[in-house]
Order: sequence, then structure tokens, then C-alpha cells
Amino acid sequence: MQRLFAGTPLDRPPTCERCGKLETECACPAPIVAPVRRAPETQTARLRLEKRAKGKLVTVVGDLDPEGNDLDSLAAQLKTRCGAGGTVKDGAIELQGNHLNAAEKALQAFGYKTRRQ
Ligand SMILES: [Zn+2]
Repeated sequence: MQRLFAGTPLDRPPTCERCGKLETECACPAPIVAPVRRAPETQTARLRLEKRAKGKLVTVVGDLDPEGNDLDSLAAQLKTRCGAGGTVKDGAIELQGNHLNAAEKALQAFGYKTRRQ
């Protein structure tokens, strides 16, 4: 079968930009793409209280871009500061119980702007 671009520069097989080998022979590790984090000062976290099954209260910290924030790490720090259990769910941080005040204080200490819903 004749190749579409035979004889043109496009006919060159693809090579790795790092090691120069053919891509089929390249053993370079996949590039590590560091997530782009956004400065807390440029973000507003929305805090709200939700009532769940059996009347349980959950403090929800939302509106933080999951790509621009390390939500898992932030959740861990909020849990420590609030002395509560919690999790990251659907891009929002949930803390068990009413921790609006403590969570708001902690977020502001990290530099986030906050707003209550
Ligand atoms: Zn390579």
C-alpha cells in the first residue's frame, strides 16, 4: 500500500522530542503534568450547611475548582482544624457536623475568600 505522504517531509516517522528515538522505540516515562494550582486569594469558597439523612448536619465547602486546588489536602487540613470527619465529594469538601465558623476561619487563614450560602 502506498503511503499518503510518501516522499514528503510528513513521511518521517514520529520521534520522541526528548530522546530522539522513534516513538515506537522510546522508553521515556510519560511526562508528569503538574496540576496548575490557583492562588487561594483569587478564589471564593462557598460554605453552606446541609441536612442529611437522620437530621445529620454536614458543612459543605464548594465552588473551589478541583483542578486549581488540592481538595484532598485541603479537606485533610479542614478536618484537622474542625476536629471532624469529612470527605471530598463531587468536587466539594464535606465536613461532618456544623463547622461553618471553624471552616470559614481556616479557609480565610489559607487565604481564600469565603461566602456563606
Ligand atoms: Zn523518548
